[in-house]
Amino acid sequence: MRRTLLRLAAGLGAASLVRLVAADTAGTPFRRPAAPSDAAAGPPAALRTKPLSYRLSPMTANTPHYRPAAPPVRTRPFEKLPDIGHAMVLTFDDGPDPLYTPHILDTLRKHDVRAMFFLCGEMANDNQDLVRRISEDGHTVGNHSWTHPLVTKLSRAGITDELGRTSEVIEKITGAPPLWYRAPYGAWNRNSFEIGAAMGMEPMAWTVDTLDWTVPGTDSIVHRVREGAAPGVVVLSHDAGGNRSQSVAALGRYLPELLDEGYRLTVPQRR
Ligand SMILES: [Zn+2]
Repeated sequence: MRRTLLRLAAGLGAASLVRLVAADTAGTPFRRPAAPSDAAAGPPAALRTKPLSYRLSPMTANTPHYRPAAPPVRTRPFEKLPDIGHAMVLTFDDGPDPLYTPHILDTLRKHDVRAMFFLCGEMANDNQDLVRRISEDGHTVGNHSWTHPLVTKLSRAGITDELGRTSEVIEKITGAPPLWYRAPYGAWNRNSFEIGAAMGMEPMAWTVDTLDWTVPGTDSIVHRVREGAAPGVVVLSHDAGGNRSQSVAALGRYLPELLDEGYRLTVPQRR
């Protein structure tokens, strides 16, 4: 119970005080962001009596009642990260996939680069060793729902279930709940912002879509990243959901090129 209260307080505090800073990618071990200082004061009075929890019973059971998160809840996802200097963020969605994710991880490790992985809960559950490796390599594990539905078609209970189960399996495997989530298809709505905030997560979209899911050819993926490269840009790619060999090959080309151009590749830290 106490953990849940603290987590909620941290989540709500982060929602109002979120500051994005670039993580040091030069071999710095992964650090959990510190809880905001106001967490020590405890959650708002309204939450003390009836804390929210994403700890769900099986899907068929009654879903806990969610009230709106304390304001301010974001009404748009982050699409760029303006405060990270001459850096960019690489993100990989829909995994982990045993065929492609290990290659992505190998390339990132070779260049000592951290990235964000927005995992689907059912993929995470089926590939727990890979989730562990993503986390242990210092990458940021985000929530991409359990089954990749169109969130805007779901009830609040449905969104709660999709996000909650995924956060739960990620916490079970990595020891920490995700602090970021991304709506499948980039389809956000107010319910998802509120429910995500109540679970302590910030919404992350992207700036540059590689369109790698259309299997456009490795050259095309590399070109889109290079064309879109700029400070604060968030790049969307996929490490699962189909044949992603082009995504893997493209990373091996554009990553060293970006580094040669002086970009740092980083992950946002919340504090
Ligand atoms: Zn997706």
